Amino acid sequence: MDSAGFSQFIRNRKCFSSEVLEGIKGVMLSKLVLIYLGFFLSVVSVMAGPETRVVIDPGHGGRDDGALWAGVREADLNLAVSKKLEALLLARNIPVTLTRRSDVFITLEQRSVIANSFEDVIFVSVHFNAHRMTSIVGVETFYASPEGKLLATNIQREVVERVKTRNRYIKSGPGYAVLNQAKCPAVLVECGFISNTNERKRCMTAEYQMLCAKGIEAGIMESLPALDKLEEDKRLEELKKIEELKKVEEMKKLEEMKKVEEMKKLEKEMHLEEPIEMEKKVEEEKLESVEGLL
Ligand SMILES: [Zn+2]
Repeated sequence: MDSAGFSQFIRNRKCFSSEVLEGIKGVMLSKLVLIYLGFFLSVVSVMAGPETRVVIDPGHGGRDDGALWAGVREADLNLAVSKKLEALLLARNIPVTLTRRSDVFITLEQRSVIANSFEDVIFVSVHFNAHRMTSIVGVETFYASPEGKLLATNIQREVVERVKTRNRYIKSGPGYAVLNQAKCPAVLVECGFISNTNERKRCMTAEYQMLCAKGIEAGIMESLPALDKLEEDKRLEELKKIEELKKVEEMKKLEEMKKVEEMKKLEKEMHLEEPIEMEKKVEEEKLESVEGLL
């Protein structure tokens, strides 16, 4: 800063009246409130972690059999795995809700409505697969969001590791209504192909069903901390945006206050100059009249 700049700086500083200083104090105070709010929210989100509810959705049911091969109904297998998964999660004190507990028909929309009625929740839809090419076997998991992908990755790995069938990997399934209508992390697990004779026989056993349930449970347990972190990051990001917006608003307010101060100062100076100008005019008029007389 050169000397001219410095003197300009000093002049500007003189413009800061008590009103402007009050404004600065206000900015600092609101910053403190935001820092406190951020800390409070992060503590709340860490505390909320263990309270995450799991909505288990046994696919199909009632008049909707799902896949049907050699008298084996997919809807029944889905419910069997879902109830085993429920027991495992309840043993860990994790709150659980099943979209159906018996062989009843519920719409896809009703399943999503149940999931969306909770604040902190993940959604796991349990299915078995079938294909006209009866040689096809394996497990696959669908997702429709980044959070769902994280959950799907862990569940797929853990289930395949236990049931030891072909890994058909995770797949993006935005076309699945239960996935794209759920506002929470959501997955759809296809636990095996009942169209393949050998796999169907395995799928019907309580042992295979328990391995699927344990795999899904392990996948959920691994995902919970990472999902909480994602949620916390999102919340802090939103808080940052609010803080930035507030900062812009406060800067605008300070600028306006400064302008008002400058206007006031200018007005004051003009009022001071006015009488001098008037006096000068009177003097000049006097001189003119004297000259006129001479
Ligand atoms: Zn199905």
